[in-house]
Amino acid sequence: MNWIKLSIPHLAGNENRYASDAIGSTWIVPLGPYVDRFEQELERHLGAPHVVALSSGTGAIHLGLDALGVRPGDEVICQSLTFAASANPIVYLGASPVFVDSEPLTWNMDPALLDRAIADRISVTGRKPRAVIVVELYGMPAQLDRIIEVADRYGVPVLEDSAEAIGSRFDGRFCGTIGRYGALSFNGNKMITTSGGGALICPDAESAERVKFLSTQARENRPYYYHEVIGYNYRLSNVSAAIGCGQIEALDERLARRRAIHAMYASAWKSSRYVKVHDNPSSGFDSNFWLSAIQLAYDAPVSPGQLLERLAGQYIESRRIWRPMHMQPVYSSAPMYGGSVSERIFDRGLCLPSSSTLSDSDVERVIGTVDRILGQ
Ligand SMILES: *Cc1c(COP(=O)(O)O)cnc(C)c1O
Repeated sequence: MNWIKLSIPHLAGNENRYASDAIGSTWIVPLGPYVDRFEQELERHLGAPHVVALSSGTGAIHLGLDALGVRPGDEVICQSLTFAASANPIVYLGASPVFVDSEPLTWNMDPALLDRAIADRISVTGRKPRAVIVVELYGMPAQLDRIIEVADRYGVPVLEDSAEAIGSRFDGRFCGTIGRYGALSFNGNKMITTSGGGALICPDAESAERVKFLSTQARENRPYYYHEVIGYNYRLSNVSAAIGCGQIEALDERLARRRAIHAMYASAWKSSRYVKVHDNPSSGFDSNFWLSAIQLAYDAPVSPGQLLERLAGQYIESRRIWRPMHMQPVYSSAPMYGGSVSERIFDRGLCLPSSSTLSDSDVERVIGTVDRILGQ
């Protein structure tokens, strides 16, 4: 039997041609025409005028926080229910994370708790947090209108971690373009890949230039190496960007396929006693459904961990929900506001195979296997 995988790369057709061209013509310099072209393609697809291609989504978050002025001793508020790469760049900058729980509709940051957290940090530390990182988990937009309203009220800027949410929309606008900065990832398991890469969506040409400068070692424009600030080696290579140019030609198809896979799960279990499929809560939300995720009822005959094991026995790959940051030993001493919602989502959730390479019969095999295991 063939393995049905959670989320694997899907070739579009021209990746090899573009990458060979990049190797043949410009391999000797790190930058080149495919980086510019990939940025322009991203700008066109997302309606975002200033995109900077970088070597990872983590690097994009790092430079986004740097651009927002995060410095040693600052606090940065971050959604707890996420991958560690959302929060780690806070620590790279010598700042401290403060975690906030999710709300049950989108699984993303709870705007009311964000309000409470900012007010409380001001009263505890005497200073405002420097930034807020909101995540669009599994592609689902957060309640961005409410989150930005709260953050604006305190004058704290929002960075969207849209690593999982390329192509998702909130009230018609693309995720990553709604906060002050937005980070994308092109890691191998994401919607499209450069084999490893990311991008930062910036508010204006000046900030984008600054990010390019910092991502290429902050070399001042002089005839010798001269540095006034600390830089990073975070620019995307031309060969990786060439792969991205091939991948982005199929972005719309990939989005349509992941949404169709989600629709099959949602329709199979719309009246299931045990399985609830995580779905857009209302019409303003338009997830890319990078990963289709479910919640199992507490009285289901197996736990999510047992379901994962039983599916693996049938060559079906699934994955537990991200374990919240406030439950990670490395962040156990960070302040946390709320917690029960993300703990329950982690406890009862599972991500199901969502690769755009899956056929309808693959998805039917997943549904049938889950139903057999649950006896439904
Ligand atoms: C993948 C991911 C990242 C990191 O992106 P990389 O390109 O792997 O560095 C950050 N945040 C979230 C939520 C992610 O899923």
